[in-house]
Amino acid sequence: MKDGIRIDGRKPDELRPIKIEAGVLYRADGSCYLEWGGNKIMAAVYGPREAMPRHIQDPTKAIVNARYNMVPFSVEDRKRPGPDRRSVEISKVTSEALEGVIFTELFPRATIDVCIEVLDAEAGTRCAGITAAAVALADAGIPMRDLPVACAAGKVDGTVVLDLTSDEDKEGDADLPIAIAPRTEEILLMQMDGHMTPAEFDEAVELAIKGCREVSKLQREALMNKYKTFEVE
Ligand code: UDP
Repeated sequence: MKDGIRIDGRKPDELRPIKIEAGVLYRADGSCYLEWGGNKIMAAVYGPREAMPRHIQDPTKAIVNARYNMVPFSVEDRKRPGPDRRSVEISKVTSEALEGVIFTELFPRATIDVCIEVLDAEAGTRCAGITAAAVALADAGIPMRDLPVACAAGKVDGTVVLDLTSDEDKEGDADLPIAIAPRTEEILLMQMDGHMTPAEFDEAVELAIKGCREVSKLQREALMNKYKTFEVE
């Protein structure tokens, strides 16, 4: 960081460029393609449909089953295909974040499957994945209390900054991804690595929420755009 400007030219409270498109896959019930800085992510939703095998069914509500996956060519060193500890963890926290807003009680014995494929990765993929998954869920018509959104803040060279790049993530002091339900500001996910003082932590949470609010607008625009297109056709 030099004169308050970051290595990629952004101010501390600035997001990387984001592009969101809803309803891009024909066979999924709902889908979303999202570009966020150097990240390229596809999210697809299937369901609600009967959970199989039967013994995994919950008679009181639907299961939300998110699967986060990085394709082998998404990172600098080819990634070995298949799940690893990191992807299992991200799948779990993503499922829990999404479950927090879905009216699962409306679909007993069902499963709602959310596939998140990271095609290109450049830090912040769990936030980008949750943000894309939320749009895909809305596109699939899954009833939700709110449209979840995620964004990270962190600390680089002693300054609290929004939305870290890969270099900032590697060289920086801390990374704090959060997901919220923007209407109520309920926290759906909060993780942190690195170290911050309590005051920096508060500042980072506030900044990440501000980032979430900006991304939330883009999610809504993406969904509106899809339905606008349908009106014309
Ligand atoms: N990364 C990588 N190889 C891996 C996992 C991660 O190169 O096997 C990179 C990738 O760019 C990712 C970044 O490290 O976005 C940060 O990963 P982290 O675990 O902090 O999750 P993220 O910030 O993507 O949510």
